[in-house]
Amino acid sequence: MKKTAKNRRNFLKKSLQTVAVTSTASLLGCNDQVIKSSEKGPYINFNNTYRWKMTTAWSPNFPILGEGCSDLAAWVKKMSGGRMEITVYGGGELIPALEGFDAVSNGAVEMNHGAAYYWAGKIPAGQFLSTIPFGVNAQLMDTWILGNGGQALWEELYAPFDLLPISAGNTGCQMGGWYNREINSVDDLKGLKMRIPGLGGKVLAKSGGTPMLMAGGEIYTNLERGVIDATEWIGPYHDYLMGFQNVAKYYYYPGWHELGTVLEMLVSKSKFEALPTDLQEIIRTACLRLNRITPVRLDTMNAQYLPKIQASQGVSMRLYPDEVMKTFRANTIETIAELTASDPQSKKIYEAFLDFQKKIVPWMTISEKAFYQNIL
Ligand code: CA
Repeated sequence: MKKTAKNRRNFLKKSLQTVAVTSTASLLGCNDQVIKSSEKGPYINFNNTYRWKMTTAWSPNFPILGEGCSDLAAWVKKMSGGRMEITVYGGGELIPALEGFDAVSNGAVEMNHGAAYYWAGKIPAGQFLSTIPFGVNAQLMDTWILGNGGQALWEELYAPFDLLPISAGNTGCQMGGWYNREINSVDDLKGLKMRIPGLGGKVLAKSGGTPMLMAGGEIYTNLERGVIDATEWIGPYHDYLMGFQNVAKYYYYPGWHELGTVLEMLVSKSKFEALPTDLQEIIRTACLRLNRITPVRLDTMNAQYLPKIQASQGVSMRLYPDEVMKTFRANTIETIAELTASDPQSKKIYEAFLDFQKKIVPWMTISEKAFYQNIL
């Protein structure tokens, strides 16, 4: 106790000194501003400036998602009093857009912003921490990850790669996608070439279609030239900016395959643990802020851009027919059963998710579901 009280006194004394001399101390590189606690108290080094690199899966300054990463870097800099500077790189600027997992894992960069389903080829169980077709919405993904054991499973999954995952945004409910043909029955899915990644793509394949992957910049031209018949992207705001309303006639909803996709901040675990504890908390706090503000921004812009799409000449909004939704749902169950049968990590995480879903659905049914059905 005595030692703790002494540390606290020292801390206050040194903090006050630091306010007065911090710029001089930084210039001189003095060490006398380093305060370490004996146990759990803060350890703050006022002299060191940590310069980290963050790569992202988004094209440079990509609206909301890329911009959010720049916001996070600015918040961290302010909260740390300039002791932590994060430089954000768009996809392709430092490394290819979807190589962030390896780049953070091997220590080339300290952070990456993307989504766990991008690493499904390497670590299939991770995609359950991004989005699950016919799973739960953004709010409930947070409830699972932050409050019901999802975070611990995510950390355990990534620890062998020296990675710490932190939720840092959510797209909210996406749109089903743009089609150049009407989908009136499951037969209309036969031979449909659609850009749709992840589990959604596997479900489409099981339903008769052909999922295709391509870089974001190629989708418009491929849709225009008939290389693909359909594509999903995000929601009205980003889809409008892509110009899909000019090259596809039917805009289907809802986004059964991406009900609330979690955006993932990957952090180098060893470098994070080597940070002073206050900077660790600053990073966690900034990620939590980004986690909340991202869906707020997306909902705001999607609501503004939906009418623009509805007013676009030749565009028709369509609800997927019941038969098609039922087929997607049945094929989702089969697709996930196949994956969990062959991958024990996927089985463990998906079963934990199902357990959470079973507990939360009765509450949501008599609260929000009843509200949306009866009021809106
Ligand atoms: Ca999408």
